[in-house]
Amino acid sequence: MTIPLQLDPHALAAELSNKNLIGGELVPASSGKTFDVINPATMETIATTPFSDATDVDRAVQNAKTAQKAWAKMNARDRGKLVAACGTALMERVEEMGRLIALETGKAIRTESRPEASVLADVFIYFGGLASELKGESIPFNNETLTVTVRQPIGVIGAIIPWNAPLLLMALKIAPALVAGNSVVVKSAEEAPLGVLRVAQVMNEILPPGVFNILSGFGPEAGAPLVEHKSVGKVSFTGSVDTGRIVYKTAAERIVPCTLELGGKSPMIVMADADLDRAVAGALTSMRFTRQGQSCTAASRIFVHEDLHDAFVEKMVAAVNAMKMGDPMDEETDIGSVISPQQFQTVQKYIGIGKDTAGATAHVCSALPTDARFSKGLFVQPVIFTGTRNTDQINQEEIFGPVTCVIPWRDYEDVIAQANDTQFGLAASVWTNNLKLAMDAVHRIEAGFCQVNQNVVVQAGLSYGGVKTSGLGKEASLESMLEHFTQKKTIIINMT
Ligand code: ADP
Ligand code: MG
Repeated sequence: MTIPLQLDPHALAAELSNKNLIGGELVPASSGKTFDVINPATMETIATTPFSDATDVDRAVQNAKTAQKAWAKMNARDRGKLVAACGTALMERVEEMGRLIALETGKAIRTESRPEASVLADVFIYFGGLASELKGESIPFNNETLTVTVRQPIGVIGAIIPWNAPLLLMALKIAPALVAGNSVVVKSAEEAPLGVLRVAQVMNEILPPGVFNILSGFGPEAGAPLVEHKSVGKVSFTGSVDTGRIVYKTAAERIVPCTLELGGKSPMIVMADADLDRAVAGALTSMRFTRQGQSCTAASRIFVHEDLHDAFVEKMVAAVNAMKMGDPMDEETDIGSVISPQQFQTVQKYIGIGKDTAGATAHVCSALPTDARFSKGLFVQPVIFTGTRNTDQINQEEIFGPVTCVIPWRDYEDVIAQANDTQFGLAASVWTNNLKLAMDAVHRIEAGFCQVNQNVVVQAGLSYGGVKTSGLGKEASLESMLEHFTQKKTIIINMT
């Protein structure tokens, strides 16, 4: 390990200030402009970061383009070994990365930030091992020819990532893209540029310069020029539906492929025979309360059979009340702060909309931190609404905060229809001991990622992606690497 471990996240944030990684060099924006990175738990500035623009994007893409040629020529398994080596190096930094992410995003160290750092390393190791699977086919065309397909890299991949799980969501794009022989330029999220930059710095010790580049900046000034750049051969985007539409339009103009991982309003359906305590515990994890609900797969619509509804709500409110909100760095903390003042406002707006909904009751849970250090922090008490209907605004729009609605149901056909009555289709979970019912429900729910009696986050090896406005394409699996980061060529050799 040539870069010393830095377990003090404040010192590390300062060390990582004002840097992009372009062509293997840590450099500021060419304009010299910067913006502040805040700790949302305290609202203190912890670092500055480059305010990149089209000039920086162009520099990064040109470096990526040059580096990609030699990278693609390398044996696939050798590339895979290097990507896996990045995972091994990152595994040694789980604590360092976890602390940095907790400081930068307000996500609690024990429940969220450290686990995310360890999944990050695992994703690199997983994809590194898949290099020999970059296979084509042989085709029985006729006896005079040898007809085969080969999978080739696309070239330079432009990746745009969000702030809610920055390490994991970046890894799901860059690890398969690199193993497949592409080079990558990432535009980090303006709210969380530091953790991903540390990953880049570690990777830079292992990969050839220019193969992986990352720059920080805002969507219009740095994200848009990346999508528009004529040498970017594919765009992979994770973020909101509105921004996804803008990105997709630009990709369409350029006729380049585009993967979109967008929002969700994921249903959780609790059947009458479900184990109540297991379903309540499952609702807490499904709703990602430990991530302040800032997850596209959050179970923000919880349909509970009417026989269980009242007991479910009572137990769920008690369980969320028992969660400890406070210092993200404290091992005791379950729930940290939300990411930004803008997100705080959005969540408050939706809590207001929920409270104004006819028939709604707001169950406000868990106590705000009392420590004066966090008096300016962006802490939001989780809210469980009862008495709302699926058609209400609160159930139709993504909130991306610790707000969920528990909705009673009686008729099975009707609850399936309600679960599907949404523009989104990312994730879903069904809670029952009746296997036949579970299978029927998961087949009929319009969502890309369905679970029974659990609802865990995306895992390496499982294709993950949405239908409807939740997006296009899959991530996290062999399929994602083959279908989304290679292009197939047909080769016919006439042997006569
Ligand atoms: P949020 O609502 O959390 O800001 P966004 O979808 O706007 O979600 O952001 C996700 C990512 O998309 C971020 O990295 C952001 O900078 C980037 N982004 C925002 N606007 C654009 C745009 N017009 N073109 C490209 N990227 C963008
Ligand atoms: Mg935005």
